[in-house]
Amino acid sequence: MAEDEDYYKILGVRRDASQDDITHAYRELAKKWHPDINHSSDATAMFEKITKAYEVLKDPQKRAAYDKFGTGAFDENGNAGFNNGNFNGFQNAGFDADDLGDIFSQFFGGAASSGRRQRRYSGAHKGDDVFMKMRISFMEAVNGREVPMPYEYETTCDQCGGKGAVNASDVETCPTCGGTGTVISSQRTLFGTFQTQTTCPTCHGKGTRIVNPCPNCKGRGYVRVKTTLNIKIPAGINEGQQLRVPGKGGRGLNGGPNGDLFIEMVVEKDKTFTREGNDVHVNVQIPLTTAVLGGDVNVPTVYGTSELRIPSGTQPNTIMTLRRQGIRGVDGRTGDEFVHLYIRIPTHLSDSQRELYSQLAGQPDPDKDRNNIFSGIFHKK
Ligand SMILES: [Zn+2]
Ligand SMILES: [Zn+2]
Repeated sequence: MAEDEDYYKILGVRRDASQDDITHAYRELAKKWHPDINHSSDATAMFEKITKAYEVLKDPQKRAAYDKFGTGAFDENGNAGFNNGNFNGFQNAGFDADDLGDIFSQFFGGAASSGRRQRRYSGAHKGDDVFMKMRISFMEAVNGREVPMPYEYETTCDQCGGKGAVNASDVETCPTCGGTGTVISSQRTLFGTFQTQTTCPTCHGKGTRIVNPCPNCKGRGYVRVKTTLNIKIPAGINEGQQLRVPGKGGRGLNGGPNGDLFIEMVVEKDKTFTREGNDVHVNVQIPLTTAVLGGDVNVPTVYGTSELRIPSGTQPNTIMTLRRQGIRGVDGRTGDEFVHLYIRIPTHLSDSQRELYSQLAGQPDPDKDRNNIFSGIFHKK
């Protein structure tokens, strides 16, 4: 990895540094390189570089992806994941041959997924589950979307049922091991003769040999299928939640069914909205006069706009709640929207406005005595 891209080196921390150490290192470097403080010509570039590194390493999920895949796991904004329509399978998989059309994808909350099963080499056995990540926009998560996803997987050959031969007569007992699947070899050494039992090199332990291989799979017992999965992302899905596509995981053993495919959602951040469960937070600026006198303002919600009544005397940093105007989650519950109010203090006054503010400034302040009679010191409640 180029030194330039080594986020740990950029921040000057060890690869096993704690999240606190990373934050601390970033703050020290940010103080040193912030373009407002540092006027050298490369300050901006350095500041961007350390910020980019920090964006990734501060987030445990992004950090894990970076540790695993390097900077390739991020787009130019440092967002984890895989470009739209590009999917990074952590492993490759098996499948169900003729099910090319509509896939019934089922939604699972949280980290629902079955662990890897131990492979057994006899008897039909379900294949391993396969995990992928899919990157979607904030609004795609809110509104849902159907995504056609090119996909390749392996599945048991339906002509021979995974045996590699269509008829019983196409298979014979292995001549090397006589059907036992193992061979015994003797080795003469200085210390005597040793007998070792090993898997038969001809049949690899099966005990049989295919004389006439299945034409569909050429005797392998499985086929590779290229298809397009129609992934249905339900409206309201959230970061880290998974979709399960049954039967599209790794191929089964000895004719067993395929494992499942799990697709974990990586949701991009939005400029306007911040999500917390099904609740939404939004920052809204209101004019000073509205804060003082009260009034109605239009605020954005994820499903459009909503009118919010600002009471007179609204203070800076007030948070107002729009009940049930958050996201309708996949759990069927609707969140609230929290509107964080910022008050716009005018900076460019016309002459007449300046005159009006000056007149106001001369008026006695009716609220003054409630706080402190000596000055503007404000006692926190
Ligand atoms: Zn054999
Ligand atoms: Zn076959």
